[in-house]
Amino acid sequence: MNILDISPRRVRDFIARWPVYARDRENPNRLSSEDLGGLRDRLLTEQIRWLNEYSPFYRKVFRKEGVDIDKVRGLRDLYRIPVTYRRDYLEDPLAFLPSPPQRRPELAAYEITYTAGSQEGEPAPFFNTAYDMMAISLQMRRTAEICWITPVDTLFNLFPYSGLPHIGFYRTVHMASSIGAKLVNALLGEDLPGFPLHRSLDEAVQLAADCGASVLAGTASGDRHFVLRAQNLGARLPLARVVLALGEAAPERMREDIRRRLQDAGAGEVFVANGYGFTECQGAMVECCEFGGCHNPSPDLYYLEVLDPRSLEPLGEAELGLLAITHLNRRGTAVLRYVIGDLAALERGPCPHCGRSGERLVVKVGSTYATRADEVLTIKSKMVNPQVLRNVLDATPGVLRYRLELERESAGDPYSADRVRVVVSAEPGRGEEIEAEVRERLRLATGAEVEVRSADPRQDLYDPSFVLKDTRVVDRRD
Ligand SMILES: [Zn+2]
Repeated sequence: MNILDISPRRVRDFIARWPVYARDRENPNRLSSEDLGGLRDRLLTEQIRWLNEYSPFYRKVFRKEGVDIDKVRGLRDLYRIPVTYRRDYLEDPLAFLPSPPQRRPELAAYEITYTAGSQEGEPAPFFNTAYDMMAISLQMRRTAEICWITPVDTLFNLFPYSGLPHIGFYRTVHMASSIGAKLVNALLGEDLPGFPLHRSLDEAVQLAADCGASVLAGTASGDRHFVLRAQNLGARLPLARVVLALGEAAPERMREDIRRRLQDAGAGEVFVANGYGFTECQGAMVECCEFGGCHNPSPDLYYLEVLDPRSLEPLGEAELGLLAITHLNRRGTAVLRYVIGDLAALERGPCPHCGRSGERLVVKVGSTYATRADEVLTIKSKMVNPQVLRNVLDATPGVLRYRLELERESAGDPYSADRVRVVVSAEPGRGEEIEAEVRERLRLATGAEVEVRSADPRQDLYDPSFVLKDTRVVDRRD
């Protein structure tokens, strides 16, 4: 079946064909919006009671803020709970770990993964109990279903095997085991001194060819790096059909590049599925078709909201704001209305492509599902991902170098719009033509009018010894 040719009926046929999916009759993605809402209301009420009793952080917050938990009877009452910020969590991660008095077997600490932490800070631990691990395994099965992965696939795990346990590597393991697919770990990464364990990229390419890898799982750039090397080595990967490109944006050109190189290695149609993952959802929101939106694979575990960055009020469908996650059924580390720090937009209700319910992140800024909130530019009231500007400039023929100059429209006001000036140096004699071309391409890509001017040929922009990659953005905002 060509995955690029998706419809709710084709998805139903696919599920019916594979018993591991067909017998998952309690899959919340197949509930009507009304039934899913009822399930989530019940789960949220129970989760909040649990946290009120056993979570040191939330017990304190509910008392301090005067939250009457008896009044929280469902998602419609979620506004009664204050938002939690990432800095609260990083300050004291253990305060978010409930400590019930009875040590029942399913509440045993089972696994720790680490979130990246603040820019300067230490990585923060996130605890899963046995109860959570079962829920996560089911989440991974449902994630595999959304991405068209089957029990006869061979998953090739390109996530690094690193010192700190990370969801990328381990959830790929759980995905394969939850559907009964074969799994081969590339075991990329760096050795600890004294433990010569990891494979080189070239060894991993050979291993993927030898084992008949059909699903590549890694970060978007890691996948591309791997596929590029495979092509250079002349490796054959004729069974490759799904690439899980997670954790980073995967713009159209990058997907085409991965697809084309795999097809050079003998593959047929290839679905490059982008996914947006973070530790607090213990996996990734994934696409059912390219650019079709990133599904919350377990709407019975997680509820997503998008909040206005200033008022923190929930925003409507497809509006861009701060992404927040609420856990609905966890026993280990649990958070409520937790602001991740990324800007995103979402849609609720049945997916127009596959028909699944729950919410989906939709592409709003450039080709990405989420952008770090502190990186987004506001140009004449339009939110623009600076990466989109870079992508356009990198892709415009005739642009030799460029510089992005950022300023505030009104200096000193942190909520002021940004002023962006793009300075380009073009091939000799083509300055005006390239300047107009860049202006038009940026307008098409961002919807905003961006100031573009040509560099003075005598200026530093022409001196390759002076212009390094990290000088391409000159940020003069506060
Ligand atoms: Zn879908």
